[in-house]
Amino acid sequence: MLTQNRAMRAIGVWNWTLPALAARLPDGRTQVTCPAASACAQICYARNGTYRFPAVKARHQANLAFVLDDLPGWESAMIRELSASRFTGKFIRVHDAGDFFDDPYTLAWCRVMRACPDVTFYAYTKEVLRFKRLIEPAPPSNFLWVYSYGGKEDAHIDPSRDRVADVFPDTTAITAAGWSSQEASDLLAVLGPRLVGVPANNIPHFLKRMDGRRLSEWQAEIDADRARKQRRHLRLVPGTSLAVPSPQNLPRPADADRHAA
Ligand code: SF4
Repeated sequence: MLTQNRAMRAIGVWNWTLPALAARLPDGRTQVTCPAASACAQICYARNGTYRFPAVKARHQANLAFVLDDLPGWESAMIRELSASRFTGKFIRVHDAGDFFDDPYTLAWCRVMRACPDVTFYAYTKEVLRFKRLIEPAPPSNFLWVYSYGGKEDAHIDPSRDRVADVFPDTTAITAAGWSSQEASDLLAVLGPRLVGVPANNIPHFLKRMDGRRLSEWQAEIDADRARKQRRHLRLVPGTSLAVPSPQNLPRPADADRHAA
């Protein structure tokens, strides 16, 4: 289940991967695999290039199907695989693509980590709220993670204490900001200084979309725009600071049913 691409083999790291963002499985089921993704999805390396090859996609879909169909079986299989001596002292990057998409899957990973103390696990994640609730209070001792900007939960990242990663237009911008690049080794994301700069992939249409911004800056623009649109749909009650929905934005019966379900 674990693989190595060229870059990871060079630093002795193994990967576990899911489809990026969302997937439709061959049987028609769909699953969101990066629920907190936002701006990042528009420059996602794992939705580009070799990741789109049918054989590669099929392998990532098979990983997801195993997790969805038989989480206990997947957990046992992962522990069995990681118990092989070749993984002793090695690092596993959880999610070359994809994220900790729900609580049961996240907790299954925690059990795998605790069952494999001779292996070190690390991850980039945009599941900030899930991690602050489920992981931060009692993390497995062999798990390192970095919150990465560009998701719906960026506002919950505390850059004054959290380990954080941001995508920059290039390495010069990383240095100018006083952050530290992980370009030399992906492990620097969790072993190097706490403010981690990731240079953007040199893919012309991705760079064009970034438009010289850091991913966190782009996401902040998206968040501000969303907040502006929400405010436009609200009517302030005169003389109070209480905001109530305008009549045209009250849920219709069908919406109300869905929320109650
Ligand atoms: S969270 Fe990562 S894998 Fe998922 S869409 Fe964003 S960049 Fe891609």
